[in-house]
Amino acid sequence: MRKSFMLIITGLFIFLQCAPVPVTGRKQLNLIPESQILSLSYESYDNFLDSSKVVKGTADAEMVTRVGRNIQMAVEQYFRERRNLSHLRGFQWEYNLIQDTLVNAFAMPGGKVAVFTGILPLTMNEEGLAAVMGHEIAHAVANHGNERMSQLLLMQLGGIALSEALSSQPQLTKQLALTAFGVGAQIGVLLPYSRVHEKEADQLGITFMAMAGYNPEAAIEFWQRMQKREGPEVPEFLSTHPSDQARIESLKEYLPEAMKHYKPRAE
Ligand SMILES: [Zn+2]
Repeated sequence: MRKSFMLIITGLFIFLQCAPVPVTGRKQLNLIPESQILSLSYESYDNFLDSSKVVKGTADAEMVTRVGRNIQMAVEQYFRERRNLSHLRGFQWEYNLIQDTLVNAFAMPGGKVAVFTGILPLTMNEEGLAAVMGHEIAHAVANHGNERMSQLLLMQLGGIALSEALSSQPQLTKQLALTAFGVGAQIGVLLPYSRVHEKEADQLGITFMAMAGYNPEAAIEFWQRMQKREGPEVPEFLSTHPSDQARIESLKEYLPEAMKHYKPRAE
């Protein structure tokens, strides 16, 4: 009796925590209050920066900041137009270029973005970089970090609250966060984004890049380059973001929708 009562309460709790994802409207399971996810994200990002070599003042570093700001403005416009700016409450946008041969990039919850120098030969130019940053920022905007962290807490710690997990198992919980937020390469654990998350990040990402004035076709070209990339080693970025023909086909299918938002930059 008591058990079934608890199940009903848990079910109700889960129902109440299901929020729709922007654009696709899919209901997602976020068990963790957004404020807690953001403070965990900001702490993890600061630790990450402390243990990394941040590039400052170069043309590439300036390009990362410029693309980040342009996409941030597009994201803000997107939510303003939908009268839903509160979706971005608590965001503290930041973009950094990291000196590292790893082929990687990520955006943690709240808009904390890192691009590794190792991915620049594959992004090739500013539009290619906008494709990667648009995709990563879309993961952050669609709250995929919270959803992945909720799933990891359920699997690893039986679904206890984040604050409880942090006080009982701080080290493990922080590692789970890095894995959930796509930073796992640093701790040797890479958790691929699900196909559902990838599709959402692709669609939202090319919408944001188009609104920011970058031709969304560059995203298709970038993923084609990733797909063709030869060599025995799978780059970190491909471990978390598998590239296959299905992704490219689905991007092509969504392209006309994204093109409606595209106004080339004046410069
Ligand atoms: Zn992704």
